[in-house]
Amino acid sequence: MQTVNDFNFKDEKVLVRVDFNVPLDADFAITDDSRIAAAVPTLKKILSDGGSCILMSHLGRPKEGPTNKYSLKHIVDRVALLTGAKVLFADDCIGQDAINIAASLNPGEILLLENLRFYKEEEKGDLAFAEKLSKLGTFYVNDAFGTAHRAHASTAVMAQFFNGKKCFGFVMANEIANARKVLDQPARPFTAIVGGAKVSDKLLIIENLMGIADNIIIGGGMAYTFAKAIGGNIGKSLCEDERMPLALQLIEMAKSKGVNLLLPEDSVVADNFANDAHTAIALNNEIADNYMGLDIGPKASALFCDTIRQSKTVLWNGPMGVFEMSSFEAGTKAVAQAVADVAQNGGFSLIGGGDSAAAIHKFNLANQVSYVSTGGGALLEYFEGKELPGVKAVLN
Ligand code: AMP
Repeated sequence: MQTVNDFNFKDEKVLVRVDFNVPLDADFAITDDSRIAAAVPTLKKILSDGGSCILMSHLGRPKEGPTNKYSLKHIVDRVALLTGAKVLFADDCIGQDAINIAASLNPGEILLLENLRFYKEEEKGDLAFAEKLSKLGTFYVNDAFGTAHRAHASTAVMAQFFNGKKCFGFVMANEIANARKVLDQPARPFTAIVGGAKVSDKLLIIENLMGIADNIIIGGGMAYTFAKAIGGNIGKSLCEDERMPLALQLIEMAKSKGVNLLLPEDSVVADNFANDAHTAIALNNEIADNYMGLDIGPKASALFCDTIRQSKTVLWNGPMGVFEMSSFEAGTKAVAQAVADVAQNGGFSLIGGGDSAAAIHKFNLANQVSYVSTGGGALLEYFEGKELPGVKAVLN
């Protein structure tokens, strides 16, 4: 896998697909610039070689063409501040103006193109649109892991116009290297923790991990579909009835493959989906009709944490309960601490997916784990065993 470290970019005009989809407040001020900061090492490598950068990104989900709310002009100053470079802006990502500014770009300078998604062609993966973008530069770098699972013009289609002159940025390379550490010959025991609201979102990842992990821990709302499928009373807990046969199949698959599938034995249950609800502890097969499980219980937490602490590799995707509410955060917090302990004891722990990343940040443990992935959907698809279009396009 070639990265920006494998090339010298002197006098190249480098088209870099970045993920600058940053949150903005009502006055268009950036509330979290970590996605811009993450791309800085890649950009600095290109600029310090004597190249220039033409940045392509999306922002939000504009439906009807150019919209002020989704304009990347709001972030120009922050890109300049974080890179220390002169940053020009083209208010149309293709067209004569963009061509002219790109042509006059000096080494060490950056051109930020307007939101790619102002053109429907971007998400459609339109070849002619991709070709127009490609004409702006001489080299293609993909550093947008968050959109690597999308076959869009800028992520998967335009790479074909840069034979031998394309590679990954550091964000992308890091994400893939860390995911591979888990997927290819993980140090054992390897424990995968899968949680979150819905079984349907996580079926494929559980299935794929059956061939790789030693232990698979299931928590969060999805655990109740399993509990009901094996005959338990789960009260008002989340359940996808139509997925119960699949839940049973997964239990059988674990047995036949010798994988230790751990389901929560007990839960923190509540009479209401609210932080001030009346709560109790119940076994997962004996939840009263007017109660719902909103967190794993103490027995489940103890067993899960024990299993995690004995592991050398851990992958965590999805919270153990409604951790956003303090009454139901204990299970997720305990698991987060156990995951952090693995890394502190020399093991490898990868946190993937928006909600587990949010949880690890909430409990101030982000700097105690091995790696927190920035790509929710992309990482999930990678662990489902799928080839990511944004990765494939650069490798081809
Ligand atoms: P996901 O996006 O599928 O990973 O789900 C994350 C969401 O699942 C979080 O917002 C949690 O609050 C929610 N969640 C976790 N456990 C439960 C539960 N037992 N009941 C309802 N929601 C839950």
